[in-house]
Amino acid sequence: MIKHHPKFELLQNFVNGDLPASLSAGIAIHADMCPQCQEKISQLTEQVAEASFEQNFLHKFVVDDEDMAEVAELEFDSIIDEITASDDIESVKIHNEGPSIEFKGSEYVLPKAIRNIELGKTAQIGKLSRARLQLDEGEIHTSLLHIDPGGSVPEHTHNGFELTLLLAGSFTDEQGEYVAGDFIMLDKRHQHHPVSEHGCLCYTVANDSLHFTQGINKLLNPIGSFIY
Ligand SMILES: [Zn+2]
Repeated sequence: MIKHHPKFELLQNFVNGDLPASLSAGIAIHADMCPQCQEKISQLTEQVAEASFEQNFLHKFVVDDEDMAEVAELEFDSIIDEITASDDIESVKIHNEGPSIEFKGSEYVLPKAIRNIELGKTAQIGKLSRARLQLDEGEIHTSLLHIDPGGSVPEHTHNGFELTLLLAGSFTDEQGEYVAGDFIMLDKRHQHHPVSEHGCLCYTVANDSLHFTQGINKLLNPIGSFIY
């Protein structure tokens, strides 16, 4: 069962369209796997639509001239047209199968939200493989990260934020076990050592390199920039 969800504020930012594409896709992927957050997003979307509707409505109707009121009514109709003509419908198209990606012989169907984003070539260090999403968001790097069975990421903290959204398989860290759909947002206050006994695929977004807290840091630096 999914235990880790995006914070309410993040869902609000998502609905308001305030998030970078990488995080927005992360929320969309999670919502596709989590009916609970899907429901919250629908409610928030409705509220935003109502709020902007009321704002327009009041603005158009605060007139004391009858003719003006008529004009306002016409505009009112066009507001409704605009709302119903919104092409947000894109996100409810149903795909049964879709493009997939292969890591070490395992094939994974890509989540809907990232199917149209170009993927870079797969790079590999030991049991870690990653393919970068070509989102071109400056310091924000987005990847698909695959951990082979028995693989792990050395213990680290984060210089910036790190989103790990588990797409398939499972991994554990000091906080317990994570399952597909878990949305894990960490920052420099968190230190962890993810281990995947049976292997997993994650969608990751980070805006700075990782900071390794154990071992010989210099040796781990390539892994840090690899994962970031
Ligand atoms: Zn959720």
